[in-house]
Amino acid sequence: MQEASELEIYVHIPFCVKKCSYCDFLSFKMGEETHREYIFALKNEILNYMSAEVKRKLNEKSYVVTSVFFGGGTPTVLPSKELTDILAELKRCFHFSEDAEITTECNPGTVTAEDLAVLKKAGFNRLSIGLQSANDEELRRIGRIHNFARFKATYENAIKAGFENINVDLITALPEQSLEDVDSSLEKILSLDPLPKHISSYSLILEEGTEFMRLHDEGKLNLPDEESERIYHWRVIDRLKEAGYEQYELSNIAQPGFECRHNVGYWTGKEYLGFGLGASSYFENERFSNTRDLKEYLGYWGRGASYAEGAKDVVQDRPLGEMEELTDGDKISEFMFLGLRMTHGISIAEFESRFNRNFEEIFGEITKKHIDEGLLSKTGDRIFLTRRGQDVANYVFSDYLMTDNT
Ligand code: SF4
Repeated sequence: MQEASELEIYVHIPFCVKKCSYCDFLSFKMGEETHREYIFALKNEILNYMSAEVKRKLNEKSYVVTSVFFGGGTPTVLPSKELTDILAELKRCFHFSEDAEITTECNPGTVTAEDLAVLKKAGFNRLSIGLQSANDEELRRIGRIHNFARFKATYENAIKAGFENINVDLITALPEQSLEDVDSSLEKILSLDPLPKHISSYSLILEEGTEFMRLHDEGKLNLPDEESERIYHWRVIDRLKEAGYEQYELSNIAQPGFECRHNVGYWTGKEYLGFGLGASSYFENERFSNTRDLKEYLGYWGRGASYAEGAKDVVQDRPLGEMEELTDGDKISEFMFLGLRMTHGISIAEFESRFNRNFEEIFGEITKKHIDEGLLSKTGDRIFLTRRGQDVANYVFSDYLMTDNT
């Protein structure tokens, strides 16, 4: 019997209580009626994904879902009953592995103890909580709706509900932030009992169209300089290492065995299907994403377009944003720049067996250059970024992207 291929699923919930000052994610504040329309449309999209063509592809290769990630936005602005119904719809449509990792993002103050119990009971087994900072003044400055006490209450409720695998999101290089502020956030996180299994720590990036970009353009945003940004980043990694965590990706740190399976899947080239507004997929050699236009999305899936009613192939005709067929060259580039995000880097043997190409011939020269510069290191069969290499990761990635691999 053919071995099943692993498949990941992403579900996008584009709603938030309020827009944070730095955020350019596909998310907005909407009323309950729009929430209801969206839930209907989303379920309809999932159901119809099992139209004949997709069902054939899924059956042929016998896919098994190993992870699901509800992201946003803030998925938990929707009632937990609705989130569990969406998960149930997915379970009806796809084969799930018994130990599938099922995560939802959640923001402090948007879930009650009862909500968390409902989510846990329905099969969600990982929670990703958007803390961002444990300092109330910083939270206020970046436009978050919660304070640390509210986060703590959500965290404790999650533990009581039975969530063992919890991620906490952190952002550094915030306006006015000092190294002492970073330390104080870290110590508050490390005082949680039990400790979170996973921490994502990203540096703030100024994005077009955000409130922060406007303030920056007006000269009203006091951000740490580049050198401080790096110092803060490494302070987080080093302090967490002391506390027993391991950095396994540029911005992700976990207790051993609790790396986010879903994200590791992205970085190692696993196939995934995305449902919901703007959600991207990588399936059968194609990368595509749903429309980012809420009106268009609701107009199509919200009217109940349905394969089951014998309509034409509604999946084929659905409103897409981008669609791109990946060449072998694209896949080779992705293998390199996504794989090098992971601290254990890429395996030459895996590269050669996956692409049937000689690594040395394509990337020998560029790899040697970066090893000589101290940006890459090689141990046995693996090539990975050094600490200095991580600081200039985009420079290294762009060299691999620009190398002719045809
Ligand atoms: S909660 Fe997250 S997705 Fe929503 S506005 Fe804030 S940063 Fe953006």
